[in-house]
Amino acid sequence: MAEAMNVLYPIGDKLYVNLTNRCSCDCTFCLRNAADGAHGSDTLWLVREPSFEEVMAAFDDYAMEDVTEVVFCGYGEPTCAFDRLVAVARAVKERWGKPVRVNTNGQGSLICGRDIAPELEGVVDALSISLNTPDAARYLELTRSRFGEEAFPAMLDFARRARAYVPDVTLTTVATTLSPEEEQACQRLCDDLGVRYRIRPWVD
Ligand code: SF4
Repeated sequence: MAEAMNVLYPIGDKLYVNLTNRCSCDCTFCLRNAADGAHGSDTLWLVREPSFEEVMAAFDDYAMEDVTEVVFCGYGEPTCAFDRLVAVARAVKERWGKPVRVNTNGQGSLICGRDIAPELEGVVDALSISLNTPDAARYLELTRSRFGEEAFPAMLDFARRARAYVPDVTLTTVATTLSPEEEQACQRLCDDLGVRYRIRPWVD
């Protein structure tokens, strides 16, 4: 397994932030099981987690005026490094006024041991939360979350709470992985929560 300090990586006009390799899940479909890197980075495995200062210094290599969105994603669950996520997101908005998105498994409140939704206000513009399936038992089979059966309802609760603090909350599933009936069930679930539903490509 190759390691480096690839803290930021561009995809088109968006800039992605790779804060941590930690995760509360061990998803059967995780991209990390298939390759060391993605999106032009030979590896997204980190030698160690970057400090706030190291992340901010990494932005110096990019023409920020051309970046349309900063996305916390990478090879791990960004909310495992939640305090740094918030600090970097706030600095990105203050310095460059860029929209901030977080791609997450939605288990951040379990990971942090507190309701993190209010802390996203004013620093995160969009949340893309992996729903994976409308079925709680199947969710656990797929994600193998260390929180067990708590994970699915906690993820949905996080999405519902986040609506009050984040302008765009979207739950996602991966194209071709669900039946049309399951996708309809996902849509109903999102309608009940008052969030958007998006069927996305595996590597997004
Ligand atoms: S939540 Fe994301 S990073 Fe974590 S194991 Fe699942 S796919 Fe991989």
